[in-house]
Amino acid sequence: RTGLGSNGTPGYCLQGLFSQQRPPLLEVKGNSELKTPLVKASSRLPLPGSRLKRGPDQMENALEPAKKRTRGLGAVTKTDTSRPRVPPLSTVSQTHGQTTGAGGLSGWAHTQVLKSQKTAPAVPAQKPGTSAAPPPVVTGKKPGKRPAWDLKGQLCDLTAELKRCREKTQTLNQENQQLREQLREAQEQAAALGAARSSLEGELGSVRAQAEQGRQELESLSARVLELEDRLGTQEGLVQELQKEQSELQEERRALAARLEEQERRLQVSEASLSSSQAEVVSLRQETAAQAALLAERGDRLHGLEMERRRLHNQLQELKGNIRVFCRVRPVLAGEPTPSPGFLLFPPGPAGSSDPPVRLSLSRSDDRRGTLSGLPAPPTRHDFSFDRVFPPGSRQDEVFEEIAMLVQSALDGYPVCIFAYGQTGSGKTFTMEGGPGGDPQLEGLIPRALRHLFSVAQEMSGQGWTYSFVASYVEIYNETVRDLLATGTRKGQGGECEIRRAGPGSEELTVTNARYVPVSCEKEVEALLHLARQNRAVARTAQNERSSRSHSVFQLQISGEHAARGLQCGAPLNLVDLAGSERLDPGLALGPGERDRLRETQAINSSLSTLGLVIMALSNKEPHVPYRNSKLTYLLQNSLGGSAKMLMFVNISPLEENVSESLNSLRFASKVNQCVIGTAQANKK
Ligand code: ADP
Ligand code: MG
Repeated sequence: RTGLGSNGTPGYCLQGLFSQQRPPLLEVKGNSELKTPLVKASSRLPLPGSRLKRGPDQMENALEPAKKRTRGLGAVTKTDTSRPRVPPLSTVSQTHGQTTGAGGLSGWAHTQVLKSQKTAPAVPAQKPGTSAAPPPVVTGKKPGKRPAWDLKGQLCDLTAELKRCREKTQTLNQENQQLREQLREAQEQAAALGAARSSLEGELGSVRAQAEQGRQELESLSARVLELEDRLGTQEGLVQELQKEQSELQEERRALAARLEEQERRLQVSEASLSSSQAEVVSLRQETAAQAALLAERGDRLHGLEMERRRLHNQLQELKGNIRVFCRVRPVLAGEPTPSPGFLLFPPGPAGSSDPPVRLSLSRSDDRRGTLSGLPAPPTRHDFSFDRVFPPGSRQDEVFEEIAMLVQSALDGYPVCIFAYGQTGSGKTFTMEGGPGGDPQLEGLIPRALRHLFSVAQEMSGQGWTYSFVASYVEIYNETVRDLLATGTRKGQGGECEIRRAGPGSEELTVTNARYVPVSCEKEVEALLHLARQNRAVARTAQNERSSRSHSVFQLQISGEHAARGLQCGAPLNLVDLAGSERLDPGLALGPGERDRLRETQAINSSLSTLGLVIMALSNKEPHVPYRNSKLTYLLQNSLGGSAKMLMFVNISPLEENVSESLNSLRFASKVNQCVIGTAQANKK
């Protein structure tokens, strides 16, 4: 269309030709081969007077645009369609002359008609007498109507008319010829175009095939692209991961490098210090060897000194007396009457009040000794002196401090006996076992002594000594022996025990049926004391006040060994809570029951007398010592006399009402004190 548009109407014809039979030009626009025939065709079409042969409808349609234009000229193109058609050329030529007066307009119309042969409307030939309509404006040159009689004129007209028709026919034939020519050409052209078209179609087919192939290729390529993009995405993800990993690894590597550096630095420092240490080690080894030699020498010396210490300690104890007597006065308890001032006095020692007291003075007003004047006799003073006197305020630990060395000598192989002597209620059990309520401040000698022994044994284990301790606790009541550590069915039953030699020819004594319990710590000792208290409590309900008239004997067998030097030592430690020393007043009138009681009491207390006698015999070095006279002395025979050390606590009540018993106790204790080395002075009235 682009090539033809400039030439006007024929463009429409071509378009009409192609539009029905071929695809839109747009599709072949790019084909350069196609342009040539089209241009060629257009150059031929606008020949003046040429016309394509076609049907009336087609013609009408094709003429339509020109028709419209001519119509726009007004009456000029408005023709009577009922009239016979007049060849346009002739009509135009007729009008040409007449319309020249109209200027360029009629000239333009003429050109238009020439250009569009098909579009110019045929001007109908005017048939005479066929129409009453007024003659058209353009027929100005036509001769007027001849009268019916003018046949010649009419013939002349007809001849002229025929001539014109012949000319016209001739013209039309020529035109027809031309048109046929044109048609042939057009047909040829159409054939050429058809060939071109089929070749183009073939081409198009191949192009389409190519396009299809291309499309498929494109599809497969785009699929491939997608796949590749996908893979690319994956790879990119992988790459990112790897990059991340790499950066992490680099970070790690840096950290490791830093650590390595640090380690190397430290290694260098260590190596430096190692070499200095090695040098030091060498010198230390030499030093150690020297020290070891010195240590061995010192160890030998220490052992010698230890032996010397034991010897001297023993000697000191002997100088202090193998039998020593301590007097302890208990405090006045709540609810007891306060004694009169000066009843009990504790005069200071020779070195003044800084010296621990060793003297005791007791005043007694004797009502029975009346004077002639009738006035009450002045109170009598009784002075006593012992190895140590503990006034009422003395604490348990102070008391223990005084006997700690004595207890320790049991570890060195010296048998030790500690007695508590005194009337009932004077504080014997308090001194030996401790006060009520488990108050650690009030602990008595037994738990303190054992704790001390355990700790000293522990210390001596450093010097190669190993110690073992076995405890037993029995009660001697009315010359029968009972186990205070009995458990289970025997508990509190007072099943009788016998004192026997451990074996034939053995010096060692043992109590049959009694428990001998190995102990190694305070807790075990506490448990044993608790058990003994329970057993005594059970017995008390059965026999009233039995404990006050029985002796409680806590025995600890100590065995020590120095394996390296092949030394052995062992000795018993005896802690004895004696029966109450009180006696019934024989001067009082007694009923038959009380006489029996007196006899029983005397029998019970005879063991105390026997103890005194045994001590006496030992001190006098008599050939016969009456150990067998009582169970108590019999049981303790290995711990009395010889190298044994004895300590007697004489417990005194602070009450004036107990003054007689107090005096008796003090006198007994004084006798004992005098017995061995006579450190105590005779107490004189
Ligand atoms: P004994 O065993 O000689 O019969 P106890 O040891 O049972 O006497 O003592 C009698 C009472 O006196 C007990 O209540 C005891 O707690 C108390 N007692 C004894 N000595 C002291 C003391 N030194 N300090 C405080 N209370 C004591
Ligand atoms: Mg008691």
